[in-house]
Amino acid sequence: MMTPGHRSIPDIAELQPGLTTGPGTRGEVRLVGQRCAACGTRAFPARLRCVSCFSDSTERVELSRVGKVDAFTVVRQPPPGYRGPVPYVLGQVLFDNDLVALSHLAGKPVEDWRRGDIVASYAFELPVGADAAPHRTFAFYPASPQDLAEA
Ligand SMILES: [Zn+2]
Repeated sequence: MMTPGHRSIPDIAELQPGLTTGPGTRGEVRLVGQRCAACGTRAFPARLRCVSCFSDSTERVELSRVGKVDAFTVVRQPPPGYRGPVPYVLGQVLFDNDLVALSHLAGKPVEDWRRGDIVASYAFELPVGADAAPHRTFAFYPASPQDLAEA
């Protein structure tokens, strides 16, 4: 199942280096977090030190692409600098067991989102700033059977 809006992205410059892997052939990306070598605590996004024990002995890890919508809101008044369409959906997604990401939810109409929806991470392009330059980040889309099979 193809979802619209995340296919023309791979040649756009990466503006958040290290936050995700590069996109695959379907535009899919993995979020990149960290795992503490001392206590095993994982975090997303990666930070300078472990969020639990403050060790600086951490490693980058690629995380699961599939998650579940825990909460969301419909944004009708965009933040300063945002040049994308409104309304849009901003969601809190639980993924890779216990991690949380705040992200756009895309790929279906705003009114169709529900708590508990199963989603997968894809590259996502947002026009931002005075020149509405494309800014590549990630968003969660409804998970396809292929996303679930690869999870
Ligand atoms: Zn730690």
